[in-house]
Amino acid sequence: HAKAAGRNTYQMFTSEMHTAARQRLAIENSLRSAVANDEFVLHYQPQVEPGSGNMVGMEALVRWQHPENGLVYPDRFIPVAEETGLILEIGRHVFEKACRQAARWRDEGLCFGKIAVNLSARQLRQPDFPEMLSAIMKECGVEPGMMELEVTESMTMERPVESTRILGALKAMGIGLAIDDFGTGYSSLSYLKLFPVDKLKIDRSFVKDIEVDPDDAAIASATIAMAHTLEKKVCAEGVETRAQLDFLVQHGCDIIQGYIFSKPLAPDEAGRYLAQQRGRGASEA
Ligand code: C2E
Ligand code: MG
Ligand code: MG
Ligand code: MG
Repeated sequence: HAKAAGRNTYQMFTSEMHTAARQRLAIENSLRSAVANDEFVLHYQPQVEPGSGNMVGMEALVRWQHPENGLVYPDRFIPVAEETGLILEIGRHVFEKACRQAARWRDEGLCFGKIAVNLSARQLRQPDFPEMLSAIMKECGVEPGMMELEVTESMTMERPVESTRILGALKAMGIGLAIDDFGTGYSSLSYLKLFPVDKLKIDRSFVKDIEVDPDDAAIASATIAMAHTLEKKVCAEGVETRAQLDFLVQHGCDIIQGYIFSKPLAPDEAGRYLAQQRGRGASEA
């Protein structure tokens, strides 16, 4: 009896694995054609300096405009892209699109600060990564100071010495650097001191209950204080409410990103948002 049950479990397990594997393979195949057919689009989410209301950045967030399934969010396909290595090609497309957008907004006289682009671990470690980015920026006619890269703690802590070297090269080129999802990964404070990053982004999970959960409040305020001691800026992600905003501003958070200002916007909507900001007298980039 037990044996039969075991076998059933086994069969169920393998058939589930088959389905999962088939789904992965299907995603992988359609990701390949998505690259070829240029099906990736970037949406942009404003990053605002709360005191002045100035625009300091736009984070580029990739979406897959699937011909049948509509808009697919990154959590659905970035992991597969990472596993298959397709992330290198997708990542290059993303960076190039972001650069073209930066050049366009600059030419339209819109002040966006910097465009921030998310990276995966494999991208950072591909050979001649800084040189590749430099070539793309030259081709698009953008200055490195118009671009920022977001890396995660886990990504950099996997190989901290190598990462420090690569980040150093990027920094020397004049590209801005931020640590994304700060506080969620394994990190070392001594490496944090060595990483030449300009900014820490407090993860949304600490912001969510910031006014009610004393632990989250403590983590957020300690992160802000520590970042400032290390002469880094702090950006809070996922700020949705006035109470969250007030807490963060009171504790000296430099930059706010979240639905309270805007959801990620399609390129034309993002352009209109920037034009409105200019109307309200935002700073010159
Ligand atoms: P992330 O970089 O931490 O991006 C923040 C995510 O939080 C975005 O989700 C954004 O839409 C969402 N968000 C922003 N403000 C709020 C808010 O106020 N409330 C709530 N509930 N959510 C908010 P999205 O666009 O689905 O991106 C998810 C993740 O996918 C990103 O997290 C990033 O890690 C990854 N990703 C996005 N674009 C790229 C890319 O081009 N390359 C790579 N490698 N990863 C990317
Ligand atoms: Mg990010
Ligand atoms: Mg994040
Ligand atoms: Mg994330």
